[in-house]
Amino acid sequence: MVVSYEDIKKYELYLAYLEKKLGAFFEEQSPYIFCKEGCSHCCEKGEYPFTEIEFAYLMLGTRFLDKDTFNQVEKNMFEVKNAKKEHNENEKFMHKCPFLINKKCSLYKFRGLICRTHGLAFFSKENKLLVPACVDKGLNYSNVYDFENKTISVEKFENSGIKQEPLAHNVGLHFMTNNSFIDSIGLKFGEIKPMIEWFK
Ligand code: SF4
Repeated sequence: MVVSYEDIKKYELYLAYLEKKLGAFFEEQSPYIFCKEGCSHCCEKGEYPFTEIEFAYLMLGTRFLDKDTFNQVEKNMFEVKNAKKEHNENEKFMHKCPFLINKKCSLYKFRGLICRTHGLAFFSKENKLLVPACVDKGLNYSNVYDFENKTISVEKFENSGIKQEPLAHNVGLHFMTNNSFIDSIGLKFGEIKPMIEWFK
């Protein structure tokens, strides 16, 4: 798929729609969200699946990076690629995102779809309720999490005194790239693969 200017415009339209929805989800789930500036847990270890259009948009963002930041990203990328060469191919390759600089996303405006959902509980493709990995660090959803059974605890919620229930939303990439709004604007996402595989 060749990503055109028109595709990018459609994608930006979708991002505006999605940001509103995600903003409402974050607001609703705020008693369970402990994200704060300087916390980069979600970007420290992952695969970061990107579709073709998301990747094209991310690359568009690199044009606005200052020289030092661009050089740092290139250095990070080089290190990740080298680490990948050493990696056992039968296992998932998890790494720090090369765009994470001083614990901040250097391409925040251009970040991918899953980046925008970092911190929320969500449903997997198999319809399993998942909470962010930072629960193990005593962060998101840890106030209502049953660590032994690896699920949200009804008992903890009832004892918490919080009115809003802890809820998972359909914010997995499979859902965010397949819904009626996307169809209505004729947006195409193209192939999906881990971010690092987009870099030749
Ligand atoms: S693109 Fe930005 S938000 Fe997404 S994983 Fe990388 S550093 Fe984090």
